[in-house]
Amino acid sequence: MSFILGFIAFLVLEIMFSIWVYTADHDGPSLFFSWLVISAFLFVACMVAADYAEKYFEKRKLATMEPAERERYLENKAKDEERKSKELNERLHAHQYGTINRALLCPHCQSKGFVRMTQTVRVTKNRVNSVAGKAIGLGTNSESQVTQLHCDKCSMTWDA
Ligand SMILES: [Zn+2]
Repeated sequence: MSFILGFIAFLVLEIMFSIWVYTADHDGPSLFFSWLVISAFLFVACMVAADYAEKYFEKRKLATMEPAERERYLENKAKDEERKSKELNERLHAHQYGTINRALLCPHCQSKGFVRMTQTVRVTKNRVNSVAGKAIGLGTNSESQVTQLHCDKCSMTWDA
């Protein structure tokens, strides 16, 4: 949330600053770089300020709450953060192992509904089996498309 507020503040200030730079009567090759450096600084400053403001207003909000209400609020906040991190974890997992195929049974732990499936490329190195060949790493790499499976329950990964 503070990121959005900070970004909006940055945009407003950046536009005003750019108009001022454009209309002011100064010139030279360093002008663009000054503008760039100040813009970057402005961005960081807005982000820090927005983050600080969010924390400050939350502290004030907490101070006006009843103890029971405050506890509930903090509990909900912790739950919300946990849910968000779970969602992120799920996205990363889906990216790496694909989506869950509900019909597949895991051959390792025999559970259903936890197996992810994705297509991936495996590279196999075939080294030439001679002293000279090994020394210079002679050989071919063969690529093959495989179906990779992963079970969320027992964390096993295997190829179909
Ligand atoms: Zn399993």
